[in-house]
Amino acid sequence: EKEAALAAAAVPADSPTIFDKIINKEIPANIVYEDDKVLAFRDINPQSPTHILLIPKVKDGLSGISKAEERHTQILGHLLFTAKLVAKQEGLEDGFRLVINDGPSGCQSVYHLHIHLLGGRQMNWPPG
Ligand code: ADP
Repeated sequence: EKEAALAAAAVPADSPTIFDKIINKEIPANIVYEDDKVLAFRDINPQSPTHILLIPKVKDGLSGISKAEERHTQILGHLLFTAKLVAKQEGLEDGFRLVINDGPSGCQSVYHLHIHLLGGRQMNWPPG
């Protein structure tokens, strides 16, 4: 997994990823929320009872949070606000965790910005 992350880090910021196929409905995903800018779907390899990914439908260079520019502030805010809506929709009244992995050291494996929404169990700190 670490090797895959390192390999992916060398890929240009606008290269397509598996998430483009999900956005374009070329591969199936369990979509829990969608609007014109954001898509939220269940992670295929869940790390908690609720594990959802929130992504911008238009990547616009956002391969990861480290590539964010001033023009991205609106979509970044919209993603965070949507994460809160989806957490409520999922009934995570007791709390939840939002995670953004960035780059090889952050253990990012898909280079299309995404927020992990994790919940449904007690989280621990520090993370691995
Ligand atoms: P990591 O793989 O270390 O969690 P990321 O933060 O880049 O790194 O997360 C990518 C996430 O995308 C992973 O949790 C993975 O399970 C998920 N994923 C990959 N392919 C799919 C897919 N086709 N449908 C849903 N989730 C996917």
